Amino acid sequence: MDKLLLLSCCAPCSIGVITQLAEKGQDFAVMFFNPNIQPESEYHHRLEENKRICHELNVPFIEGDYVPELWQKATAGLESEPERGKRCDVCFYLRLKVGAEYAKKHGFTRISSVFGISRFKNFEQVCRAGKKIEDEVGIPYDATNWRKNGGLEYAERLAKEKNLYRQNYCGCKPKK
Ligand code: SF4
Repeated sequence: MDKLLLLSCCAPCSIGVITQLAEKGQDFAVMFFNPNIQPESEYHHRLEENKRICHELNVPFIEGDYVPELWQKATAGLESEPERGKRCDVCFYLRLKVGAEYAKKHGFTRISSVFGISRFKNFEQVCRAGKKIEDEVGIPYDATNWRKNGGLEYAERLAKEKNLYRQNYCGCKPKK
């Protein structure tokens, strides 16, 4: 039986995909594991918005632990990297790995993520991390490009309609 675990970074990036999957009757859950988000108040704000839309759409929501020290340790030395650089490789890898391990333990058959849906992201970079984890953990990574076929515009429209909180940065606050 197909059961998908969708990794989400925030409500505006995930609302379109969650709505589409719910409407087509996909068996799935959303996982929020984002130790990259700083500061903590911002993390909770995004968490609550993502929880709210899942609740409205009756989709199971899994809240990961907030462990910023884990993210800081993993990305140490990469503070000056630009967005889409090496720090993001490590960041995607860390979040997807925890998601894949959770999926394996809890009976999911594949994982995917909305980490690459934003125009500011390098979709291929996210997929590379997903495929690496697929080999390591043994859970298939579904590399659907959710941005395509109007996916991004659909998400933007829903985010506006639902008056979702929209941040103006990805998550981390790297040193300049
Ligand atoms: S810019 Fe976003 S994806 Fe890249 S390291 Fe920071 S939080 Fe992670």
